[in-house]
Amino acid sequence: TLQLSKAFSNMPPIAKSNHYDYLVIGGGSGGLASARRASSYGAKVGIIESSGRLGGTCVNVGCVPKKVMFNTASVAEALHDAQQYGFDLTSIPKFNWGFLKQKRDAYIKRLNNIYLNNLVKDDVEYIEGKASFVSKNKLRIERDGQVEEIEAKRILIATGGRPRLPREIPGFELGITSDGFFDLEEQPKKVLVVGTGYIGVELAGIFNTLGTNTYIITRSDEILRSFDPIIKDTLLEQSKKEGIHVLSCAKVNSLSRDSPSGPIKVNFTSKETNDAVEEFDTVLWAIGRIPNIEELNLECTGVRLNEKGYIISDEYQNTTVEEIYALGDVCGVAQLTPVAIAAGRRLSDRVFGPPKFKSSKLDYNNIPTVVFHGTCGTVGLTEPEARKKFGDENVKTYTSKFINMYYAMTEQKPATAYKLVVVGEEEKVVGVHLVGKDSAEILQGFAVAVKMGATKADFDSTVAIHPTAGEELVTMK
Ligand code: FAD
Ligand code: NDP
Repeated sequence: TLQLSKAFSNMPPIAKSNHYDYLVIGGGSGGLASARRASSYGAKVGIIESSGRLGGTCVNVGCVPKKVMFNTASVAEALHDAQQYGFDLTSIPKFNWGFLKQKRDAYIKRLNNIYLNNLVKDDVEYIEGKASFVSKNKLRIERDGQVEEIEAKRILIATGGRPRLPREIPGFELGITSDGFFDLEEQPKKVLVVGTGYIGVELAGIFNTLGTNTYIITRSDEILRSFDPIIKDTLLEQSKKEGIHVLSCAKVNSLSRDSPSGPIKVNFTSKETNDAVEEFDTVLWAIGRIPNIEELNLECTGVRLNEKGYIISDEYQNTTVEEIYALGDVCGVAQLTPVAIAAGRRLSDRVFGPPKFKSSKLDYNNIPTVVFHGTCGTVGLTEPEARKKFGDENVKTYTSKFINMYYAMTEQKPATAYKLVVVGEEEKVVGVHLVGKDSAEILQGFAVAVKMGATKADFDSTVAIHPTAGEELVTMK
């Protein structure tokens, strides 16, 4: 079929070759990193991407545009604080969402091109199209009705994930997801965010700080449920003080709209309101993500999925089929860009690199992560996790709650709260949990210390940097 398609078509071939050492499905964080590293060892590499733009979730509809919006919210906060720091701002200037969106989109386009240039520089072939398996070593590539089959000795699945939609809720299609958030041309006046994991909490924080009347629905009475209590409790209280309406033990029953441009009527139940109907400009589903696997035709390969539908891969990123690998969000573990990148590079080091890398793999322990609202930062075990693992008698915590000096001049005084979780007589630090201004920047260095096995005494013997918030972490009693 390949020969036929090439012989009878006037269109240029989708791929330059029929055979590769390594084919990577997915031009996102993990796929790009692995492909480029493999090529650096001389492998013949092709990377297949179906969306028409490189960079994956992180660059196009994730970390990058999200951080631009978080930065925008930080500017809005600084403008409010400026008055209280003595600047003569009689009114806060109006924010132009459309202007910022255009600039953000242009920035993302520049990044897409940089990724493309990097592939050219690193001699990785960019194959535009949708990939699916024909057999263990053969892929079918489809683009605009054109189809080709190409082979590789080794194949990596790095197809990422997408937002989950609550298809069981009548009218669910009236809501958007985080993808739709980045398409918004105008700022909604009133928004309902459903879900209080990373995405719900971050986007609600951005909306609220930029002046949207923001409601958030949690199905429990917590937000960021998997985080340490010091983070989730402090941020919940803070979010309410900031003016976010938190609806707890809540459930959306249905969405409806009387006219195409009218408000969305949300029928919901919550502890605060019982049964209620409320109108919103925008409803945003942030109820988790699902892996992109349906179109891969994995059935013909023997690659197995776990009970949640993610691809099973071991610590070396091997799937259940030899020479087919998987990593990143499609495996559902630690769904973070640096994790996908590191896993991709380690895999290529191991498979294509020199013998010294023959056992190369990513250590999934002590992965630092932050939520860009608050800001919250965490590395290692939460207190409940440590107690479960080591026993109550072996676990001790140090906490500190204070007001960051930045807020000495402002009316709003959000709490900063830090916790160290330590274990055993030597007080090895197994968890660092931070909430408060600049925690995202503070955490990275402390993550190195935790990874190295630092003890509380090591923290204490480090001279503080004064006056900072981070110094609290080396002076805890
Ligand atoms: P992706 O980056 O999703 O790449 C997968 C690629 O595969 C996509 O480009 C897709 O089009 C392509 N593809 C899928 N199927 C096929 C096919 N059949 N053929 C060809 N191509 C295919 N992480 C952080 O570390 N920090 C953050 O601040 C952060 N913020 C986030 C904010 C949001 C709103 C979201 C949604 C995510 C955020 N993440 C963040 C998570 C991060 O974006 C992901 O963990 C990361 O992008 C995963 O990389 P990946 O390579 O596994 O998949
Ligand atoms: P999360 O798993 O973090 O959160 C999902 C949220 O949806 C939880 O609050 C969960 O509630 C709630 N939920 C699930 N099902 C329902 C339902 N049926 N009805 C109501 N609520 C529901 O997923 P996200 O989509 O927020 O983020 C996905 C991943 O992306 C994250 O885990 C993270 O790895 C990555 N990410 C990282 C970021 C960063 O590094 N800063 C930013 C954004 C995303 P409950 O708590 O009760 O289970």
